Amino acid sequence: MTLTKDQFIRDFKDTLHEEQLIKVPQATPAELFATLAKVIRKYYTPMWLDRNRNLTENKEKIAYYFSIEFLPGRMLETNLLNLGILDLVKEGFAELDIDFEEVKNTEHDMALGNGGLGRLAAAFMDSLATTGYPGFGNGLRYRYGLFKQKIIDGYQVELPDDWFGTLGNVWEIRKDHDAVEVRLFGDVYLEMNEEGNLTPNYHNSQVLRAVPYDVPQIGFQNDVVNNLRLWDVEIPEEYEADYPTVASRRAIEDITAILYPDDSTLEGKQLRLIQEYFMTSAGLQTIIQNYLKQGLPLEAIYEKVSVHINDTHPAVAPAEFMRLLVDEYGLEWDSAWTATVKTMSYTNHTILSEALEKWDAELFKKVLPRVYQIILEIDNRFVADLGRAGYDADVVNYTRIVKDDQIHMANLAIIAGHSVNGVAKLHTELLKEDTLRSFYRLYPEKFNNKTNGIVQRRWTQIAAPELSGAIDQVIGTGWRKDIHELEGLTTYLDDKEVLDNFYQVKQDAKGRLASYIKETTGFDVSTDAIFDVQVKRLHAYKRQLLNVLHIIKLYLDLKDNPDKDMIPRVFIFGAKAAPGYHFAKSVIKIINELAKLINNDDSLQGKLKVFFLENYNVSLAELIIPAADVSEQISLASKEASGTSNMKFMMTGAITLATLDGANIEIKDEVGDDNIVIFGMDKDAVYAHYQANDYHSRDLYESDATIHRVVDSFVNGTIPNIQSEGMEIYEALIQHNDEYFLLEDFHSYVQAQEKVDALYRDKDKWARMSLNNIAKSHKFTSDDTISQYAEEIWELKK
Ligand SMILES: *Cc1c(COP(=O)(O)O)cnc(C)c1O
Repeated sequence: MTLTKDQFIRDFKDTLHEEQLIKVPQATPAELFATLAKVIRKYYTPMWLDRNRNLTENKEKIAYYFSIEFLPGRMLETNLLNLGILDLVKEGFAELDIDFEEVKNTEHDMALGNGGLGRLAAAFMDSLATTGYPGFGNGLRYRYGLFKQKIIDGYQVELPDDWFGTLGNVWEIRKDHDAVEVRLFGDVYLEMNEEGNLTPNYHNSQVLRAVPYDVPQIGFQNDVVNNLRLWDVEIPEEYEADYPTVASRRAIEDITAILYPDDSTLEGKQLRLIQEYFMTSAGLQTIIQNYLKQGLPLEAIYEKVSVHINDTHPAVAPAEFMRLLVDEYGLEWDSAWTATVKTMSYTNHTILSEALEKWDAELFKKVLPRVYQIILEIDNRFVADLGRAGYDADVVNYTRIVKDDQIHMANLAIIAGHSVNGVAKLHTELLKEDTLRSFYRLYPEKFNNKTNGIVQRRWTQIAAPELSGAIDQVIGTGWRKDIHELEGLTTYLDDKEVLDNFYQVKQDAKGRLASYIKETTGFDVSTDAIFDVQVKRLHAYKRQLLNVLHIIKLYLDLKDNPDKDMIPRVFIFGAKAAPGYHFAKSVIKIINELAKLINNDDSLQGKLKVFFLENYNVSLAELIIPAADVSEQISLASKEASGTSNMKFMMTGAITLATLDGANIEIKDEVGDDNIVIFGMDKDAVYAHYQANDYHSRDLYESDATIHRVVDSFVNGTIPNIQSEGMEIYEALIQHNDEYFLLEDFHSYVQAQEKVDALYRDKDKWARMSLNNIAKSHKFTSDDTISQYAEEIWELKK
């Protein structure tokens, strides 16, 4: 868009005056933010209208990305950058004497996600708009998102994340006219209608109103605005009288209150199922309605519509789609089925079996009686087909949807869709040869890989402006539009001046993080130390505990020998634990107590510092990641499907310290063995242990003095205030045989850390490695990942 600074200043002042009846000096940062958002909205609204009109007129095929999570973080800077007016607005603000940073920081993170899954979904929204493909998001408008993490006395405490604040979501638009009804519970009877078809009759069901709120997704300087549609729940007017009490109304509001309600109770499970169905049904209803407005035949809907199932949460989609096509629109089963399979596609995000959703059949039948019948029908036909094709009972039993009174949602998504993809090369291979191997035998053509990616604009231009400036100086600004130009940096790997400059940029970012640490914890840290960072959800397979074991070893070494020759280290953690995940919360407590012990011990001479930064989210990631020297990606090989923070760190010049897992392998392939530090068992070694059943952590503990000493410090008082948590960790490692092989990988990890120490001593070498990582990181742009989805799975046109 074209805009001058003067015009912007006029628009801004006028809006502030009209909307808030004040002038700039009286306005609070929040008022300034709200006003700026309104001005920006005026700028992009015409593009948004044009986009929708063009898509309708040209009858373009549209992909709909269904996801229970979206984790965009703050939108202000992204929107400005993508409109091409970020610098102009900053200059305008400077002229008005407004502190842009302060205004920016009043925006609450849009945190409708938990971690990588939601961040990926948000990245895809940005990249779909940027590449110009018609791809829209479909999710839930949670009132409180995940939770806000506070650390109190070392423990994680979960508070509601009131992200609407007093302003609400300044970017969304309520679309009342697109509201639909969603039906739950009750009884359903099939009756013959006048045309002689069986149609369902519902009794005593609950009818809810689903109201969409659309959030614009602005492409990078291309005038494209796509849509992220988030559904909220309301009580339909005609049923108001059914909800006479506050409690009965609140039960409805709960459907969109929080992400991942506690599912340890039956009610909690039911609530999650309702959430998943609610957003899926509402989304599919409007998709079909919009398609039919084009006057095209319903059985050919797959020519204009793709529905993508991101992880299993929206996997009820094929069954609901069948219900709509057959019951509501009268299609024959067979043509509805063909249309469904061609419309649906599915991304698997994990090989951990506990994350492949299964629903108790009784619960499912109670909440979604008609969808349940349809799933049974799909399952029956599937089993009959396999029988006719001569498959043995093993394959049938492994792949069918309904078994042992449970509904296997991944199986439904695979059978009723045309594409199944993993999210990194290794992950897709594991799906084919292990987790989903029977499906791979049945449908080899459905399987494909789409390695995850990141929005480079957010992690460089927004999160790391100094780095971006340094890149401009060396290769010009073309990379800001075409990230593959970063490769040009490889020409300067031996240019001392360039290396020094990038080194300095990293030091500056470390300085900013050091100030934040000082503000939030009171401790000083030196930017001469190695900033060693592990930020991600807390999970046993990600092995934050292995990092802790190493820190304990360093601590014990320093207590034995205060003059130990080592580059000072600052270990930085950020992680939320699922509220019901006891082990993960114990690890958080231990990190905090260990940090307290270490940070207050003057005998360590500042060689060791540990920080757990609370409430890890996208905005905090934007501060932390550009400041990292070392990127900890230390999951047990085979367990991390892809990872995306590994890519963000790489792009901002950290050296990856990693196992051969997920996308770490592809990072290594890009940068070469000399520019990454790899350790530990690979996937084959891990699987060999599973095969031979020959891992005994207690033997390692008994025979290895270092391991023994480190592990004992959880239970012998070395770390204070962790009696029960320390015991829990000890038991996990020794009594329960160390499920994620920490002790086996321990020495290899320690050696890798020693290698990091040695490498960092050679400043030029380190800077060269770092620049190499930045130069090669363009491989992981989500713009390319989404183009592959669009072309290979959804068959979209730009
Ligand atoms: C990128 C990102 C993640 C994903 O991190 P992984 O290390 O890949 O698991 C999680 N949370 C936030 C806030 C992120 O930005």
